[in-house]
Amino acid sequence: MELRSDIMKNIRVAEPYVPGEQPQHKVIKLNTNENPYPPAPEVERALHMMEGECLRLYPDPAAEALITALAKYHGIKKEQIFVGVGSDDVLAMCFLTFFNSGKPVLFPDITYSFYKVWAELYRIPYECPKLDEDFKINSQDYYKENGGVIFPNPNAPTAIYEDLDFVENILIHNQEVIVIVDEAYIDFAGKSALELTEKYDNLIVVRTFSKSRSMAGMRIGYAVGNPALIGCLNNVKYSVNSYTMNQAALISGVESVKADAYFHETVNKIIETREWAKIRLSELGFVFPDSKANFIFAKHPDYDAKMLFEKLKQHNIYVRYWGSDRIEQYLRITIGTREEMEQLFDVLEKCMEENSEA
Ligand SMILES: *Cc1c(COP(=O)(O)O)cnc(C)c1O
Repeated sequence: MELRSDIMKNIRVAEPYVPGEQPQHKVIKLNTNENPYPPAPEVERALHMMEGECLRLYPDPAAEALITALAKYHGIKKEQIFVGVGSDDVLAMCFLTFFNSGKPVLFPDITYSFYKVWAELYRIPYECPKLDEDFKINSQDYYKENGGVIFPNPNAPTAIYEDLDFVENILIHNQEVIVIVDEAYIDFAGKSALELTEKYDNLIVVRTFSKSRSMAGMRIGYAVGNPALIGCLNNVKYSVNSYTMNQAALISGVESVKADAYFHETVNKIIETREWAKIRLSELGFVFPDSKANFIFAKHPDYDAKMLFEKLKQHNIYVRYWGSDRIEQYLRITIGTREEMEQLFDVLEKCMEENSEA
């Protein structure tokens, strides 16, 4: 039932982010960029050993153990790290904390669609410079006056990675606003902008355990930046909810960071499968920007993306399809295991045969 408009008029109306489907039956799930491998065995072991007693108490609001592990891992100070409930929580806190000038925040027209949702929710003006026809960010679009800049590197869903010179150029032209680089996929790509946080006080780099660390279900993300900026984030966080990170996340996050050999092994397996998948996709006639992430953003010149998306779904293979402006012919395909990808290619081949006969 609809509420009376006089009641509605003072209620915050949000247009929420729409996540990829999480089907409850068993499928080959290549639609939300999850990692096909389990987290490190140490993570599971630590969770099994967790005693009920530790749930009786509130968790450590400062997330000291996790922040200590991350500081050691990256060779930075604890004061440079802010943690949250997945990078979505960290990014939402960043929008709330850093984008308050009244000038438009800049992010690409084709990018992580949550940026627009937060901007709308917090009533932050924004502008979305267009990616070029090859889906690349034109850095010059970010040289104008603005209220802050955010982009993922590699970008999503295009999977295109830009090198540190590109990131630094944007920083050089934006020294008075906060620049956020969302590095959700950096472990599959190349050099991180983390080192630039030493040189640029206005840079925030955001990371997640959801993709390369196989822990999407645990919800762990973090931001790295100048201690003063991290302090501002903490003040906002403690004004909303002091206990964002639960005990299980704190304990298992530390174990994941420590299990470095396993981490590199699984990341490398995904990169290997990605490189092989690029060859297979090209053989099938797909075109795509060169991916440096754990997904490929592909279209086929002769087959409709929506048709392929639906056929794959009928075969219990889920990929991501938006059908929105400029990307209506593209599918975003997460890199699964080699076996999952083989099944994907078998079904794609079959769909394409059936449809050329028709
Ligand atoms: C997946 C993703 C996130 C969010 O990850 P969390 O699971 O909330 O840590 C943030 N940014 C981009 C670009 C992503 O693809």
